[in-house]
Amino acid sequence: MTVQNIQTSDVDRLKQAKRIVIKIGSAILTGDQPGFVRQDWLQALLKEVAVFKRNGQDVIIVSSGAIALGRRHLGLINGKLKLEEKQAAAAIGQIRLSSLYQELLAHDQIVAAQILLTLGDTEDRQRHLNARNTINNLLKFGAVPVINENDTVATAEIRFGDNDRLAARVAAMMNADVLILLSDIDGLYTSDPRKNPNATFIPIVHKITDEIENMAGKPPVGYSSGGMITKITAARIAVAAGCSMIIANGKEMWPLTKILQGGRCTWFVPTLEPKNAKKAWIAGSLKPSGQLIIDEGAVRAIHHGKSLLPAGILRVQGDFKRGDLVTIFDTQNHEIARGLSAYSKTEVELLKGHRSGDIESLLGYDGHDEIIHRDDLAIIER
Ligand code: GLU
Repeated sequence: MTVQNIQTSDVDRLKQAKRIVIKIGSAILTGDQPGFVRQDWLQALLKEVAVFKRNGQDVIIVSSGAIALGRRHLGLINGKLKLEEKQAAAAIGQIRLSSLYQELLAHDQIVAAQILLTLGDTEDRQRHLNARNTINNLLKFGAVPVINENDTVATAEIRFGDNDRLAARVAAMMNADVLILLSDIDGLYTSDPRKNPNATFIPIVHKITDEIENMAGKPPVGYSSGGMITKITAARIAVAAGCSMIIANGKEMWPLTKILQGGRCTWFVPTLEPKNAKKAWIAGSLKPSGQLIIDEGAVRAIHHGKSLLPAGILRVQGDFKRGDLVTIFDTQNHEIARGLSAYSKTEVELLKGHRSGDIESLLGYDGHDEIIHRDDLAIIER
């Protein structure tokens, strides 16, 4: 087991993070009174979010609570709900949840944006790319995206099921530096501290071993569908994408300030930085659908860390859609790089050899200046 004491450098990861995802669980949002939000707590938390925003940090919120809020209006206060009851409750609760975020964030002149996602949206490359573009644009405009699972359309098979996993997928998709899971427990223990008084607290995890996995135990009964098991799964997704993850107690007031002051929480730290992790994923894990053959100028530009523009493309092969993986070759048939194409094969055929400024007149609509943005491009090392 690789466990060490927390270091100030870990808190610095949060201070220096460019992009932070904060997941708020149902149990801490609603507290002990079913169907009602702990509004003072939420307002205080969003004040902390406003401080991050003023520091120039992007914040994305993944909020549960739609079902917990909505079930009261269906008269379903107690007991386990069937999937269709959860979906009905979520539809009623989500509209309330969104307006609450909108209202409370507006106190700090922050605009809230609602995004509802299903598992399929993060798996399918085109929808993944669309969601990522929209969220990136919202962040560019200074808004705070508030994300939840689209419970209305998610059936049992295509559900995330819990927002810990959804938050980790979002953190990976958006290249976040830190994911904070605010929960009703202050971190990971060697066993469940509610049952075992000898359970020891673990401040930092460098590697998620079987031993760590076994510490998770079974999920508790109640509103939250997560528990420690889904948090460990979330940690796996986050660290694989180069994102640090924190489990912290969100029950108390000002939980983010407490983390920044070195308060008790568990950190899961990645070995890879976010950008490298994503590039490693592009370089290694997908099956390319097409090939682009580029000229010498474009090869030089790519090696200098630039994006691939239409002007440098000589030939296009294979068949690919927007968001698919393509391989890039020079004229001597050497593989130079791999990347995610912002355009389909038909579109690249029309654009190749032309200036980015001509994109709108060639396609009839405006799009990205780059065929492959440098963030979506991985150089093949030789
Ligand atoms: N999407 C569910 C809700 O908003 C929450 C799922 C979870 O808590 O993990 O109520």
